Amino acid sequence: GDLVGLDSLVANTAYLKAQRIDRNELKKQTRLLTLPLPKNSSVLQEAAGETYESLCEQQPIGKKLFQQFLLASNPQYAAAAEILEELSGWSFAEEETRVKVKKSICAKFCQPGSRSFLSYLTGQDAERCKHSSDKNFDEVMMGQIREATREFLKGKPFSDYLKSPYFYRFLRWKEYEKQKISDKYFYKFRTLGKGGFGEVCAVQVKQTGQMYACKKLDKRRLKKKRGEKLALQEKQILEKVNSLFIVNLAYAYDNKTHLCLVMDLMNGGDLRFHIYELGERGICMERVVYYTAQIITGILHLHSMDIVYRDMKPENVLLDGKGQCRLSDFGLAMELPKGKMVCQMAGTMGYMAPEILRQEYYRTSVDWWALGCSIYEMLAARLPFRDFREKVQDDEVTRRTLEDECKFEHKRFDAATKDIISRFLKKKVEHRLGCRSSGGDPRNHAFFNSINFHRLEVGLVPPPWVPKSDVVYAKDVNEVKDSSEVQHVELDAKDEKFFKEFSTGAVPIQWQKEMIDSGVFDELDGLDCDAAFK
Ligand code: ADP
Ligand code: MG
Ligand code: MG
Repeated sequence: GDLVGLDSLVANTAYLKAQRIDRNELKKQTRLLTLPLPKNSSVLQEAAGETYESLCEQQPIGKKLFQQFLLASNPQYAAAAEILEELSGWSFAEEETRVKVKKSICAKFCQPGSRSFLSYLTGQDAERCKHSSDKNFDEVMMGQIREATREFLKGKPFSDYLKSPYFYRFLRWKEYEKQKISDKYFYKFRTLGKGGFGEVCAVQVKQTGQMYACKKLDKRRLKKKRGEKLALQEKQILEKVNSLFIVNLAYAYDNKTHLCLVMDLMNGGDLRFHIYELGERGICMERVVYYTAQIITGILHLHSMDIVYRDMKPENVLLDGKGQCRLSDFGLAMELPKGKMVCQMAGTMGYMAPEILRQEYYRTSVDWWALGCSIYEMLAARLPFRDFREKVQDDEVTRRTLEDECKFEHKRFDAATKDIISRFLKKKVEHRLGCRSSGGDPRNHAFFNSINFHRLEVGLVPPPWVPKSDVVYAKDVNEVKDSSEVQHVELDAKDEKFFKEFSTGAVPIQWQKEMIDSGVFDELDGLDCDAAFK
């Protein structure tokens, strides 16, 4: 009745309002914060075992502090920092800006200070580079400058850094990063969806205002259904990946009743919702090309880490507020043993590749098949081997998948689209696009002629469609409420041990990003947090 409607209106309003945070209000709060001091040198020991790449490149706060150190140290170190910065700018710039950036880089490496670490380059190289319009030459040249600069930085500058107040400040951030996470760390908002072991709701970090989605797994239900191992596997895969096209994990913690995975909030709805629930069925070609390009980038990232996703389907692709998409739900994903094949029935009926259905051995080929099915579905609003709402037995879908050719009757299919789908839907793995022996890289297909993958990969290609900021792209709260009763399951010491293994708190890269994006890093950085350092 009315009360139910009011309920969901209130929930939506609070959720939408939280996303328009008041930075000034937050600033007042962070001013009260101070960074903790590193305790018992445990943080120091952990950090000492880490590489230059991890400390100065991958971890966002580490990278910032290393840069600050270089800029403040001497002109030579500063030139190295500036060159690296400009090189990444050059790499992703559009043609016109590239020329300007290149000139500036060339000018820098002609400075006497930078000569020493770019010593193998002669003044002639610099002159030639400045005036060249040969893309390949530029590419090689810039690559060489980048590597030479990194090699230089890994030496004396890095060891100087480890002895500097900047590194000490980094250790204080690492100490802070290790804080215990509990429900109290977040404000909680409406439920967004329902999963197999509990609900997913929106949350907001009190201190930074950062919004996330929190996937809750009921401890007792997990035990009853023996889902512990899978839950841990999902968490470990999520924390390992770091991609713009995969839902990243920011925190893993637990409370009395639930394990919680705190991930990127995807408030634009899933692609299944966009195919079937919003007016005319299907998604227009421009968007399909864009989403497919992002999906491929995500899949390639997984495969490069020997992870097979096994649940590629539009329902698992979620849009964020800007209209970019990411892969989610890693419950079926697995790390492949090096050099070995696996033979395990896993996936969703209608998207499963012939080799899975025949219970043969496979590696990553199954994701490319499922992607072919998904492109087809985004355009035709049906699956290649199953019509929309068709009542059909799994056996028959299996038979069609193994024997039938895919038909293209929908008006949206053009020649390039039919071609790429057909190549993903090759029944033999060795003929399928994306599968190593067949050679082809899916990104080179004519279907992606309009996409600059280099820029897309770093999030620089604007989305063709942006979700409305005043719409909640999720089912009504009352439809997704987790109403199942608590089972009578006793938890013992062994369970507690598992919960502890799961609850590792903040995930470094994501947490550091949050500190920087929310402005907390700059707020605290300006304060005198090195008083204890002598
Ligand atoms: P399960 O593995 O139990 O199926 P999912 O990971 O698929 O759980 O999550 C269940 C539902 O919660 C999804 O279908 C989606 O509606 C919603 N959801 C999951 N992750 C997010 C997210 N990061 N942002 C927004 N909504 C999400
Ligand atoms: Mg799911
Ligand atoms: Mg799942």
